[in-house]
Amino acid sequence: MDIDAHAEELASALGEDKEEVKRDLENLLEYSVPVDEAKQSVRRKYGGAGGGDASPSAVDIADVSPESGNVTVTARVLTVGRRSIRYQGDDTVIREGELADGTGTISYTAWQDFGFEPGDTVTIGNANVREWEGEPELNLGESSSVAMEGETLDVPHEVGGERDLVDLTAGDRGRTVEAKVLELEQRTIDGRDGETTIHSGVLGDETARLPFTDWQARPEVTEGAELRMEDVYVREFRGVPSVNLTEFTETSPASVEVSDAAPRVSIGEAVTSGGMYDVEVLGNVLEVRDGSGLIERCPECGRLVQNGQCRSHGQVDPEDDLRVKAILDDGTATVTAILDRELTEDIYGGTLDDALEAARDAMSREVVSDDIAETLVGREFRVRGHLSVDEYGANLDATEFAANDDDPAARAADLLEEVGA
Ligand SMILES: [Zn+2]
Repeated sequence: MDIDAHAEELASALGEDKEEVKRDLENLLEYSVPVDEAKQSVRRKYGGAGGGDASPSAVDIADVSPESGNVTVTARVLTVGRRSIRYQGDDTVIREGELADGTGTISYTAWQDFGFEPGDTVTIGNANVREWEGEPELNLGESSSVAMEGETLDVPHEVGGERDLVDLTAGDRGRTVEAKVLELEQRTIDGRDGETTIHSGVLGDETARLPFTDWQARPEVTEGAELRMEDVYVREFRGVPSVNLTEFTETSPASVEVSDAAPRVSIGEAVTSGGMYDVEVLGNVLEVRDGSGLIERCPECGRLVQNGQCRSHGQVDPEDDLRVKAILDDGTATVTAILDRELTEDIYGGTLDDALEAARDAMSREVVSDDIAETLVGREFRVRGHLSVDEYGANLDATEFAANDDDPAARAADLLEEVGA
């Protein structure tokens, strides 16, 4: 381990700022203090264990908070995911996953191999609690201890990481999925070991589709392959969860059914999910937003330009395009559906050239968006696409946009049932 890794581990165990711990370590190492001794010394300075007497009391997982400091918990290991991270040239394998007891679950990161597997019941001593995205997380460093318990702790949670694609969320570790490779492309990236070939594409199962990256570019991951993939992790990529296959992921053949339909959810559910790759919602168009209809794009970057000015490229010779940004509402939330030129031409009932001609005749480009608004506003549409959520709201990049053609009689019956008539 290099000094950065030592500092990270020590800071994590002590719950102190890494940069400060690193400075202290560096000071001592400058005077040729051996690294183990230096770490003991820094640990004493911050009052951590190793001075020897602090032994945190056992707590329920539900009672662990980011302010807990160091804790001892007895828990069932639900998942173990491995990942390799690098500090200044040194690779360290960390283990991440979830623990549970009768009161709740908590994520953990182990900076060394304590030898536990999913299903084991363990007592973890002196784990440091850190806050990660607003939630407490246990950090197991070299001052932590792990003891195997003979008696299995019963927990109301599934042991193991098996999940359907629809249930994956960014931040998940140690997951196992069975899915079919629907799309695949090879890319060369400038990775941490120089130029690296990776595979990326789309996975599907009966519940959903999700983008994925195989950082090892395995030969068995080919278009059409149906695979079981053990120990994958999920992170957010372009606003949606993305499945990552690492050097620790094990694949084996599987038999997978894939649904052609996207999961249908309420807009409220879609928005709180934080992003979904392929999803379908149903809602009424409240409004067609500014920037719809005939628009002008920068020929360099494709961004919208106004008065021939691109924010990145200055004065440009803009290209005409068609687009719709429609606000959709289903009573639970709103989302902005974004339609590309092709979908917009379908709604408009004419091509880009037709729209340009109409604008010339009326001597106004607004006539096109007015025309589109008249078609859309107040009507119900079924929209399928890629949903991303950011601080400005939820956007649904539409791949399908159609007037709702569900049988009205059936929907009336549903409604009556809902109101208890
Ligand atoms: Zn530009």
